[in-house]
Amino acid sequence: MNVPLFDLKAQYPAIGDELRHVAGRVFDSQQFVLGAEGQALEEEIARYCQTKFAIGCASGSDALLLALMSGGIGEGDEVITTSFTFFATAAAISRLGARPVFVEIDERTFNMDVERVEAAISQRTKAIIAVHLYGQCVDMNPLLEIAAKHGIQIIEDAAQAIGAEDRGRRAGSMGAIGCLSFYPSKNLGAAGDAGMLVTNDEDHARRLRMLRVHGEEKKYQHDLLGINSRLDELQAAVLRVKLRHLEDWTHARQRKAQQYELKFIDAGLSEHLIAPYSRSDGRHVFHLFVIRVPADRRDELQEYLSAHGVGNGVYYPVPLHLQKCFAYLGHKKGDLPLTESAAAETVALPIYPELTDAQQDYVVSNIASFFKNKS
Ligand SMILES: *Cc1c(COP(=O)(O)O)cnc(C)c1O
Repeated sequence: MNVPLFDLKAQYPAIGDELRHVAGRVFDSQQFVLGAEGQALEEEIARYCQTKFAIGCASGSDALLLALMSGGIGEGDEVITTSFTFFATAAAISRLGARPVFVEIDERTFNMDVERVEAAISQRTKAIIAVHLYGQCVDMNPLLEIAAKHGIQIIEDAAQAIGAEDRGRRAGSMGAIGCLSFYPSKNLGAAGDAGMLVTNDEDHARRLRMLRVHGEEKKYQHDLLGINSRLDELQAAVLRVKLRHLEDWTHARQRKAQQYELKFIDAGLSEHLIAPYSRSDGRHVFHLFVIRVPADRRDELQEYLSAHGVGNGVYYPVPLHLQKCFAYLGHKKGDLPLTESAAAETVALPIYPELTDAQQDYVVSNIASFFKNKS
């Protein structure tokens, strides 16, 4: 048997006809960027994310960059975030000449430990990027309180967390701006790159609409220094079709996650691995299903699974504070021990809506035989 880490081919048959139909509609219109499809998608995503506004752009990475630009982040500013995230989160900060300040993670959720944020605030702190990793929200209430107290804005990196909730509030709707990615492998994935910003703030919305088109409000009048980051119509049309399935897909992901946990117990794996922790006051959308194993067994387990046709991956093997391009920040190994342990002890297992029961059994039995044969 072969169980890929994620499988877009399994999703395609059910929506293929509709996707080809809407793609044809875009070609018939010969309107390829920032048109009717994009506008409709913005309205639908705003509704889905419980925000007043949504602004399409070219990728999740650009969404982060645009959000910081709209927040006025620049040279000499500091932005607090996590080191245990996709590169784009911190890259956006550095690109604008600001300094990423990394705080430790919460060992259970792998998200930023909000209790450590206040100690990281300085005179230069302008913003916090809260990353909702793997599809689970950061504990936002204490963070919102700290941010309000110090007059700092919160930007949410919700690239992995569309539809996730913290106490009933959707990811992206709680801070000043939320950033979404529609990279094909994300829970809502386009047929290429795409991204979106969501906000309740009218000024941000207006500025973001300008910033994505080189800062112009009227044609060829550039009031701001922006970038070129437009949402294209083909992607918007594809995403509108898929958005109608997102709730069902999310429920399926949650069911698969629950089944993994039961199967781990049945297979006697509880002493060998730690299953993902879900906050009881949140809604986890399981973009990734990440287990934790002893560091000295992790790479071996990965090799074993790969050799038996079980897809797996590490998100992320090198924390950002130890990346070469961030050497100028002066970090060394040991600065963020909990983050570094997580990078050494975690493995993501296959999770996607179409994953079958038999496939899950196969994944779990391989993990069980790995630990049985070699411990
Ligand atoms: C995917 C991702 C991004 C970047 O999105 P792209 O659309 O790939 O540019 C940013 N942050 C996180 C946490 C992500 O997972």
